[in-house]
Amino acid sequence: MPIATTNPATGQVLKTYDPMSDEQLDAALGRADLAFRDLRRTSIAQRGRWLSAAADLLDAERDDTARLMTTEMGKTYAAARAEVTKCAAACRFYAAHAERMLADEPADARAVKARRAFVRYQPLGPVLAVMPWNFPLWQVMRFAAPALMAGNTGLLKHASNVPQTALYLEDLFRRAGFPEGALTTLLVGSEAVDRILADPRVRAATLTGSEGAGRSIAASAGRHLKKTVLELGGSDPFVVMPSADLDRAAEVATTARCQNNGQSCIAAKRFIVHADVYDAFAERFVANMAALRVGDPMDAATDVGPLATERGRGEVDEQVRDAVDRGATVRCGGGRPAGDGWFYPPTVVTDLRPEMRMWSEEVFGPVAGLFRVSSYDEAVEVANGTAYGLGANAWTTDPAEQERFADDLDAGSVFVNGMTTSFPELPFGGVRNSGYGRELSALGMREFCNTKTVWVG
Ligand code: NDP
Repeated sequence: MPIATTNPATGQVLKTYDPMSDEQLDAALGRADLAFRDLRRTSIAQRGRWLSAAADLLDAERDDTARLMTTEMGKTYAAARAEVTKCAAACRFYAAHAERMLADEPADARAVKARRAFVRYQPLGPVLAVMPWNFPLWQVMRFAAPALMAGNTGLLKHASNVPQTALYLEDLFRRAGFPEGALTTLLVGSEAVDRILADPRVRAATLTGSEGAGRSIAASAGRHLKKTVLELGGSDPFVVMPSADLDRAAEVATTARCQNNGQSCIAAKRFIVHADVYDAFAERFVANMAALRVGDPMDAATDVGPLATERGRGEVDEQVRDAVDRGATVRCGGGRPAGDGWFYPPTVVTDLRPEMRMWSEEVFGPVAGLFRVSSYDEAVEVANGTAYGLGANAWTTDPAEQERFADDLDAGSVFVNGMTTSFPELPFGGVRNSGYGRELSALGMREFCNTKTVWVG
């Protein structure tokens, strides 16, 4: 994949970049290593001031940064502005709470026959972050804010279609006051990742991306004995039970499926509805999906912009065609529109069966599968019926059912009567083929720490 900015709304290539040479890459790893030696000696309070300064810059530069993201990957300008604001809030959260999260944790000294015993959290070193284009600022910030606060340095290998956002991020942390090399953007293709992981200066890696990239990076990290956190795809269930508020559920279902033009790992993708309310929910949901406006992502009236890449749109189109060829029904949308740009209409597909790709694969576009089930048990069986386990949604006002869903849905998070999202205050991540490890909260920060036991006799 060339390293280039291509506007998905027009298909026009706007800027291309040469990948870094081996010498440039080696120098960048050297800078990250040197910066780590400095950064780990700075106080948490100092790092917090730098991170707060980054938050202020994000707020001040929100409109320009949002325009850049919209140009590179096609999300609506309104969504891009909200993403910048969310990043600033995450920086402030970690600036405010890192001291507490990284504080020594005393243990019961008598029990371990010591005068003193405690756990200390220390940074690991340069961490490679392989990141995707779908939330080009947030996915990086979610890693960088806690990692830098803990005293690590970051090596950012961003997706090849968002190079300008990647360079902006390096510049942002530098201008906020962090030492040169605290966060370095590596303009390299994915084929360079194995070589970077092999370098002894690189201590760990985090990836947000596809299952295939996850397998490849985990294998490479395994060969080089490097710690990894993997946040991969999902085909999240959205279960609607008879007691649910159907208007609200259908409204949130529409937002969940079409936010970010349908390209979010934690977006609900499979809508599993109890037979008692199936028709009433389907009518509302299909009407909402069909009413969304598809168009220029810079236009405030647009709900859904283009998909980020031509390949991505082709994949979504093939998944829908495969379902239709095998007997599924398209209730709205379906098919690529004519004209420039990689647009795809909000689409609802029913009558899905296990042999269709849409049954088990992640669909990375504004396409919903609608499933009818006749009981709680069948709802859970269908919900857990893919290899993924990232987020899960359940809609029910019955307290006993809410408890059961919290237990039975096999996912990294369960959101009841609300849309799955991420908060700096709560851990984020998946199980099974959706990956392992956690981002955000104190757990996310400690993933890239040496949890050191100190025993004093
Ligand atoms: P990828 O997983 O291919 O890309 C994500 C990042 O991983 C990019 O930086 C990419 O680099 C890098 N990468 C890709 N393959 C490898 C590899 N073998 N070794 C090391 N690094 C690698 O996502 P795509 O953009 O191709 O999207 C494909 C699918 O992935 C989507 O349809 C969706 O299902 C899923 N996805 C999930 C995301 C999530 O948020 N969980 C985000 C994006 C995609 P480069 O750009 O240079 O190829």
